[in-house]
Amino acid sequence: MGKIILTGDRPTGRLHVGHYAGSLKRRVELQNSGQYDKVYIMIADAQALTDNAEQPEKVRQNIVEVALDYMSCGLDPEKSVMFIQSMIPELTELSFYYMNLVTVSRLQRNPTVKSEIKMRNFESSIPVGFFTYPISQAADITAFKATTVPVGEDQEPMIEQTREIVRKFNAVYGEVLVEPEILLPDNKACLRLPGIDGKAKMSKSLGNCIYLSDTEEEVRKKVMSMYTDPNHLKVEDPGQIEGNTVFTYLDAFSSDDHFKEYLPDYNNLEELKAHYKRGGLGDVKVKKFLNNVMQEVLSPIRAKRKELERNIPYIYEVLKKGSEEAREAAASTLNEVRKAMKINYFDDKALITEQIEKYR
Ligand code: ATP
Ligand code: MG
Repeated sequence: MGKIILTGDRPTGRLHVGHYAGSLKRRVELQNSGQYDKVYIMIADAQALTDNAEQPEKVRQNIVEVALDYMSCGLDPEKSVMFIQSMIPELTELSFYYMNLVTVSRLQRNPTVKSEIKMRNFESSIPVGFFTYPISQAADITAFKATTVPVGEDQEPMIEQTREIVRKFNAVYGEVLVEPEILLPDNKACLRLPGIDGKAKMSKSLGNCIYLSDTEEEVRKKVMSMYTDPNHLKVEDPGQIEGNTVFTYLDAFSSDDHFKEYLPDYNNLEELKAHYKRGGLGDVKVKKFLNNVMQEVLSPIRAKRKELERNIPYIYEVLKKGSEEAREAAASTLNEVRKAMKINYFDDKALITEQIEKYR
């Protein structure tokens, strides 16, 4: 059995540096490592509709934006299959069968769904589709027999839910599905990158993002407005690193080479942190350094995007081809699932013989 990757994003907006740190950068490395037999990258439009049912246009418009972001970061259609979730109806059918293997109380316990429900103020008016999206995510992962799912920390409960469904399915119907492993970023700051407002997670829905496609000036403004230590008022005051977004971003994005290039007074981040904690280092100086780091990370992505934006039909071609290939793989798994569940009536010769015997 080969090693297969599946991961993806909801087309609810352009992708941001949280996506880059949490998953996208890793995906590109994995894609190029040559260690995977297949890399599937899904634009989860059906999942986005579970909490955007009344904004179909938003979802529709963002499909191409997400695809542009993918390819700007180095996802390569020659090496990865990029596709649109709703173009694979097999995924919906799998979800429907998996629903029988999961209880309502199990879904209610999912901490990510719990916090997302709160964030969206759904209270008691939770759409059923949204409530059950962990099941549809299990269908996405298992349809491709994915072994590896590179995602941010918020996805951990989803992968656990998928593993439970796989175990249950295989125990009841026979060994068909593959239990996936989560692949989290090695860098702790990337597990769940905070928003520029210092809130727990940078998220399209919270509007606290630095987008991969932001202009140089937009990035600069956002960095300069970032949340730091609210008690660090004067330069000479000792500052706090924990919960200080600027330092979290430096943890996530800066390297010793960045210091050589832009801030040679310090050899590395540890020295900068030590100075900040002692006092005598102002926020503006740290933010200017972070801005240089972010511009260095983002400018090649921005340039590649400009180039790709000139050929939108090509982007759709890539997605169409990817969707066709993904559909074939999902259809083959669905065939196995139907056979294991014994709902492949017309191909089941034994069933027909049995019925003939019964009425002989
Ligand atoms: P939405 O608000 O619509 O849910 P989102 O910004 O949370 O959007 P998703 O499409 O839900 O983005 O997430 C896609 C992938 O990016 C997932 O693997 C998720 O773990 C990762 N990710 C999203 N936000 C962050 C973040 N702030 N830090 C690290 N990883 C993140
Ligand atoms: Mg999300």
